[in-house]
Amino acid sequence: MGWVESLRDHGGIIFIDLRDREGLTQAVFNPTVDPLLAEQAAQLKPESVIGVSGTVELRPAETVNKKLGTGEIEIHATALDIHNISETPPFPIDDALGDRVHEDLRLTYRYLDLRRPKMRRIMQLRHTASQAARNYLNDAGFLEVETPSLFKSTPEGAREYLVPSRLNPGEFYALPQSPQQFKQMLMVAGVERYYQFARCFRDEDLRADRQPEFTQIDLEMSFVDREDVYALMEGLISRIWKESLGVDLPTPFPRMPYHDAMNRYGVDKPDTRFEMELVDVGTIFQETGFKVFKATLEAGGSLKAFNAKGLADLTQGELNHLTEVAKSFGAKGLAFIKVENGEWKSPIVKFFSEEEKAALQEALRMEEGDIVFFAAADWAKSCSIIGRIRLEAAALLKKREKLKIDDSQFNFLWVVEFPLLVYEEAEGRYVAAHHPFTAPVPEDAHLLDSDPKAVRGQHYDLVLNGVELSGGSIRVHQPELQLKLFRDVFDIPEDVIEDRFGYMLKAFRYGAPPHGGIAFGFDRIVAILAGVKSIRDVIAFPKTQKGQCLMTDSPTPVTAKQLRDLHIDVETIETPT
Ligand code: ASP
Repeated sequence: MGWVESLRDHGGIIFIDLRDREGLTQAVFNPTVDPLLAEQAAQLKPESVIGVSGTVELRPAETVNKKLGTGEIEIHATALDIHNISETPPFPIDDALGDRVHEDLRLTYRYLDLRRPKMRRIMQLRHTASQAARNYLNDAGFLEVETPSLFKSTPEGAREYLVPSRLNPGEFYALPQSPQQFKQMLMVAGVERYYQFARCFRDEDLRADRQPEFTQIDLEMSFVDREDVYALMEGLISRIWKESLGVDLPTPFPRMPYHDAMNRYGVDKPDTRFEMELVDVGTIFQETGFKVFKATLEAGGSLKAFNAKGLADLTQGELNHLTEVAKSFGAKGLAFIKVENGEWKSPIVKFFSEEEKAALQEALRMEEGDIVFFAAADWAKSCSIIGRIRLEAAALLKKREKLKIDDSQFNFLWVVEFPLLVYEEAEGRYVAAHHPFTAPVPEDAHLLDSDPKAVRGQHYDLVLNGVELSGGSIRVHQPELQLKLFRDVFDIPEDVIEDRFGYMLKAFRYGAPPHGGIAFGFDRIVAILAGVKSIRDVIAFPKTQKGQCLMTDSPTPVTAKQLRDLHIDVETIETPT
């Protein structure tokens, strides 16, 4: 049984490559054996579904196909069942040709796209990875528990999807951004170890490679500390990599404090496969005559620089692009020095003293063909600007084959010791760096009132090659501390606390165990395992950048009756034509 992959007529003998999930088998319809059958077979079209009966025979030696798993045999057909004749597909069911088809067309006919061997392999890989994870977690005593998709609206973090409640007019559920609160309740319930392949929903603008619904491997454990989580999760990841790719990952994974990650790589998810680390050049310019640098240092800011080795040949267009990128991170411009023909070419070098130049040379080891970039701003901004330029420059160097970044190298890294809080300028208050249930590092908890920004959180991220694969934390389980965080630190009004989190605070008063957990972006993991760039390629039925499903054509308007039942009035929005 299967699909007609291709059909060839060799002097009246019909050869059909019959395809199913496992691969291809050749069926032969010989008119000297059964002329009517051969004639029927000749009428078939690619992608039709048929069943063939016959005898399995060895192929004649000269027609053996070594490239095919079934290349030594063929079926001499004696009967043919035609289950469905296919129309001509809108694009070839072929890996190389299919990849060149516009993605919208592939998504409209996703059931055909998924027939391509590459997509079938990805689905198989996703299954293997999820089974590896499940087996590991089952062995480690985790219970798989499902939590509700109709949750309560908690409008913080990403925007939520709302679901109107017909039975409670004017009221709404929200689709969960993650099962965070439920999994913590499972710990209070005594489950001790929980996991779920959880569907999460975030109504974000789908820039970059995001999906409005995506899958997490979500976990929570009682009576654990950070070390327990690291060890268990390294085991989980190793098992997934071993069973999916046959790769043995070295453990334990290295760890890097958040401050070092920012300082050295300018980002909290560093790609450590290549160096080009950031250098703090503030001390060199303490007495500088260059106003921009001087003003930054006097205001308590940082001067960060890095040497993009060998990139002095960048084009004006590339330089303009880098400048735009720097500006989008809050820079006023992007200062640089190129080393060309033994000279420093730069709009700012004329402001530097000989000592400053010598010290820069020493700090950045500038050689012929190099280009150095600078950022001058507060510490976090300087790091982020130059960190982003470092990544952009690496991509340009890679394109020129001047930098090797090996895609089969897996640099896992725990980023740890994040600050518990970040100050939200716009709101004039602290918000949680991870989420408001994250526990402070015990030694720092006494600083919550006096010096909140110095408090580290028990939060950890697992990073792979510059991609954040997962994040989690040890949680607050003491009701007084959780209330203090909500009320005194995050400055949430009492009635809002009661309304949103009252049940949690109550639950914590009935025997809450210490607990912590983590969630992995499963789609991203599979994309990395499969070596594909977009998570859309590892999701059976993904949405477009505009959040549409092109196959089913959703979202769509609904009937007036449906809206009336839900007590909803919709303003008609004119869409420009
Ligand atoms: N729920 C968190 C998230 O989605 C992960 C965790 O803290 O376990 O990022």
